[in-house]
Amino acid sequence: LDAGEFRRQGRQVVDFIADYYAGINDYPVRPAVAPGFLAGKLPATAPSTPEPDALTAGLRDVRELMLPGLTHWQSPRHFAHFSATASNVGALGEALAAGLNVNPFTWEASPAATELEVVVTDWLGKALHLPERLLFAGGGGGTLLGTSCEAMLCTIVAARDEKLAEIGEERIGDLVVYCSDQTHFSFQKAARIAGIRRGNCREIPTCRESGFVLTATALQAAVAADEAAGRVPLFLCATVGTTPTAAVDPLRELCAAVEGRGVWVHVDAAYAGAACVCPEFRHAIAGAEAVDSFSTNPHKWLLANMDCCALWVARPAALVAALGTDDDVILKDAAAAARPARGDHHHHAAVDYKDWQVALSRRFRALKLWLVLRCHGVDGLRAVVRSHVRMAAALERMVRADARFEVPVPRQFALVCFRLRGGGAAAQLVGGDELTASNELNRRLLEAVNATGRAYMSSAVVGGMYVLRCAVGNSLTEEHHVREAWSVVQGQAAAVLATAGA
Ligand code: PLP
Repeated sequence: LDAGEFRRQGRQVVDFIADYYAGINDYPVRPAVAPGFLAGKLPATAPSTPEPDALTAGLRDVRELMLPGLTHWQSPRHFAHFSATASNVGALGEALAAGLNVNPFTWEASPAATELEVVVTDWLGKALHLPERLLFAGGGGGTLLGTSCEAMLCTIVAARDEKLAEIGEERIGDLVVYCSDQTHFSFQKAARIAGIRRGNCREIPTCRESGFVLTATALQAAVAADEAAGRVPLFLCATVGTTPTAAVDPLRELCAAVEGRGVWVHVDAAYAGAACVCPEFRHAIAGAEAVDSFSTNPHKWLLANMDCCALWVARPAALVAALGTDDDVILKDAAAAARPARGDHHHHAAVDYKDWQVALSRRFRALKLWLVLRCHGVDGLRAVVRSHVRMAAALERMVRADARFEVPVPRQFALVCFRLRGGGAAAQLVGGDELTASNELNRRLLEAVNATGRAYMSSAVVGGMYVLRCAVGNSLTEEHHVREAWSVVQGQAAAVLATAGA
């Protein structure tokens, strides 16, 4: 790495990114491209030798070929999925970590990176008001993974091994895991990878009347039925902020329902965990004192650019028992040599984060999260969450004021779900019963909205209903973007209803 060259090229890249953000509003949020559009424009093989000033040429290709083919997640008019909230220091922290390029798989492999992760997961846990027992300060501890999917896999494997150590490995086929029909699909995937029988993943139904949350009564009934049949309840995945509607499962009641039964309770708060920086949203995690693990994605709503999932566990030893390896002689020797010799560690056990995850190698994610917390402060994060929630509340009012639309589930946090009511007249056009017809109408509406390129939203099907999801959460989104997005929806709704003869 040539320092002078790096300085010059670094400025080029920073300027490129700054220009992108300055003009991001001009791009259609969703590009009008077809599969294969890019491959046809690039050579079939990599160059054997670099062209002169290849970075400049590369950046030109990014600008001319790739930017027009991106879905612009950072556009102020991107309202799909859950946002990936960005910040200057989130991006620059990523750059800094990439530049330092250390690999903190053990304490010894990078003491400062490891210790910053210990410190910053406690900082974040305190900012979210997580129970003390999930923090290092209280005997638990946190780590930074890439995604919530990894957090689910690691915790389910820890729970499995802890349970099998108690009941015998041959009983793996008896283990049962629980979630609701709103739980993210990654839970089922994690359970499968962990060797849980497909038939032993209980996806408990929810309903509109109870706001699509998992009820303690339904959970208790499912657990009791499994116990009566000689199966072993293992793991519950409760969600704070479900993907379709941001529903909040009642942690206190769910924990009480499985109390004393040896069930590992994990909270997936990928999106809504962030809101707990605000006292007014902390009720969402009331009862979390009894859970075994909790994860949230600071890359979703806390200004930490991709990727960053914080996972806290009450008993790190359970993770380490399942995922730890001390077979590598080189790593073991290096650790033994390093620890007694350096510094005073009697009060701080050295953490080897390789034993808390699937992979050995890992990124220095703590750096950007620490910079975000340091440069924005918890108050700054609160202001971001509150401004998005305020904008979403304004949108909800606009939707409710238009009689053609309904809000089938009340807004949660900064996610508004809505749909066109019209079904009767549309039934003639698309056929089928009223619900099928109105679902088709709403599917057409979403496609029409997204095809404009002026707003981008996503959908969900809940209780058989197709709903449009508008998640406010980008750093650049302002009130006028939300108002404009709503007028795009209204305009397209008029067109779709006219075509459907409704
Ligand atoms: N859990 C919930 C509730 C989510 O909404 C999502 C994604 O949006 C995930 C888990 C998966 O997150 P990740 O992409 O970090 O694995």
